[in-house]
Amino acid sequence: MNLLLLQPEDLGTHSDDINRVTLSDWRAQHIREVLRASSGDTLKVGLLNGLIGTATITAISNDKVSLEFELHKPPPPKLPLTLLLALPRPKMARRIIRAATELGAAEIILLNSYRVDKSYWQSPLVSDETLHKAMLEGLEQAGDTHLPILQRATRFKPFVEDQLPNLLKNKIGLLAHPYADQGPPHSVSQACLLAIGPEGGFIPYECEKLIAAGLQSFSLGPRILKTETAVSTLIGRLFL
Ligand code: SAM
Repeated sequence: MNLLLLQPEDLGTHSDDINRVTLSDWRAQHIREVLRASSGDTLKVGLLNGLIGTATITAISNDKVSLEFELHKPPPPKLPLTLLLALPRPKMARRIIRAATELGAAEIILLNSYRVDKSYWQSPLVSDETLHKAMLEGLEQAGDTHLPILQRATRFKPFVEDQLPNLLKNKIGLLAHPYADQGPPHSVSQACLLAIGPEGGFIPYECEKLIAAGLQSFSLGPRILKTETAVSTLIGRLFL
């Protein structure tokens, strides 16, 4: 945890308490047991979807940590990236969403695809609650406070035909596909939608539909990367 993320509901409403907070959940435990912090120590702090700043520990006990904090600067900017990600295997989804959040994706759309097992959508490992927690972890790691927008497109064809063209207005659209003839663009500075396929890859029909909607396919070369590796490599290669 490189940033202690405060939630609006942690904050008092009385004006005397506006810059003070007492934590008694896993964050207090983390401050005590992992950071081994003590009274007077300072921590980097941020308010969810708000500013970042510094907190000073004013009291620490076995079950509580009290802090006084000041928020004065914006979090790092998001990448102008909408990640269109075929729903990964649930065991991997948390890690991939956390990594995409860490790297700064502004929006993540989980997409159904022929090779996405239908049962994946019902898994508690991809529930809103689980993925929200994964995104919070990504923010805490990266020192960010702004949650990416997370959406689900559970029907491939209606999404690609009816919604994707609108999403692509004022964006370049890219389809990462190991068998594409073209290599990757050097770097991307404008708003971009990047599609990444499922473990078994997009089927030819899906690639055709995505390309017809306006995506340009490209390959990183003959090595076929796992989705988890592909997400980090592609974001790093195109944006960082
Ligand atoms: N067996 C699948 C196939 O042959 O397409 C492999 C899919 S791979 C595990 C998951 C996704 O990662 C792909 O659909 C693609 O979006 C991305 N990916 C993996 N390797 C890539 C490469 N060399 N170039 C571009 N994209 C890649």
